[in-house]
Amino acid sequence: MTDFKGLSPEFLGGVRGKRVLVRSDLNVPLDDGRITDDGRIRASVPTIKALADAGARVVVTAHLGRPAGAPDPAYSLAPVAARLGELLDAPVAFATDTVGASAQETVAGLADGQVALLENVRFNAGETSKDDAERGAFADRLAALAGADGAFVSDGFGVVHRKQASVYDVAQRLPHAMGGLVAAEVEVLRRLTVDPARPYVVVLGGSKVSDKLGVIDNLLGKADKLLIGGGMVFTFLKAAGLEVGNSLLEEDQLDTVRTYQERAKELGVEIVLPTDIVVADSFGDESSARVVPAAGIPADSLGLDIGPESGAAFAAALADARTVFWNGPMGVFEQPAFAGGTRVVAAALAAHRGADVLTVVGGGDSAAAVRALGFDEAAFGHISTGGGASLEFLEGRELPGITVLEES
Ligand code: ADP
Ligand code: MG
Repeated sequence: MTDFKGLSPEFLGGVRGKRVLVRSDLNVPLDDGRITDDGRIRASVPTIKALADAGARVVVTAHLGRPAGAPDPAYSLAPVAARLGELLDAPVAFATDTVGASAQETVAGLADGQVALLENVRFNAGETSKDDAERGAFADRLAALAGADGAFVSDGFGVVHRKQASVYDVAQRLPHAMGGLVAAEVEVLRRLTVDPARPYVVVLGGSKVSDKLGVIDNLLGKADKLLIGGGMVFTFLKAAGLEVGNSLLEEDQLDTVRTYQERAKELGVEIVLPTDIVVADSFGDESSARVVPAAGIPADSLGLDIGPESGAAFAAALADARTVFWNGPMGVFEQPAFAGGTRVVAAALAAHRGADVLTVVGGGDSAAAVRALGFDEAAFGHISTGGGASLEFLEGRELPGITVLEES
């Protein structure tokens, strides 16, 4: 195991009066300028607060959504600055640009222990550019905000799988440290891949099998049981010879899914599929929701959740697990009639605590589902803040934003 640089007492001891550029993941869902889930802001607070308390002049950089490399008011971080200030219980100075006049002025105005947030880093095309020189030029300007004796802290776990200026290139330009959030995420994910406590149960759902192929591929060789629900389950059911009506189906993945079934058999890994399904006449039609056997999905209906019998079977499989990784809702949890399966799995995990038990929820929608259904986040061992990043880690891929911190 790697020794993490984290925010060590040595690092914190050396930041007083210095400017520390922090890459956080503040990419929260917004509805008409209102933050609908502030989970990622909350998760970013401890590192920012630790630096401010240590006397650093903290300059936070982050992105929101996918603006087209130019300023776009719909993706402004201004509401996030306000919320961050509330959570820190301290004012957060907001720069209305990324590295321009406002950013320079804002950063220059910081006193020891104060915090500033720069406008959406993706308002500058250099952030995500595939051209090393263009990205590097932007990183130079970000690094310049920290100044000659400044430092960089990488704490945006949701973006560490991206080779982007504020994630990757700045780390090559400034003394750097891994933030507490990234360190915690990496440590937990390593426990899922290196010598996990057994039984190890993986629950997969969500919309598409094709999104999760790499994870299934890599975890099939590590888990004892794979419980499958969500939209992807219909490709598994179809591959097993069942009819799935109008349910989500990826025909082009049928062969791949069959090879998973074969490999699972060879490895002695059990793939558990639902035996009953909540179907409806059309997508999202709650009034026609009803439970049918998985082997009897009517041709003119579509499956939108796993049924109660399946939920009970999944919960039973989770009860004696010592390691659980859950990614992907079991159904269209956004609608109450199709939220039952997701609720049962979440409840089974929330009830399953113990010193020797590790339960991890990964995936943006899964984490949002847990919160939306009213579960206490503290009831889970770990809720990953980075959907794509945690999946890429579990696929066994190298994450550029982590590698660059460990390189030098
Ligand atoms: P995560 O972000 O946790 O990785 P995904 O993005 O893969 O999860 O999938 C989440 C979406 O999957 C949710 O919006 C949910 O409505 C959808 N979903 C779950 N079950 C089904 C289903 N049976 N049919 C269609 N969509 C589904
Ligand atoms: Mg998602």
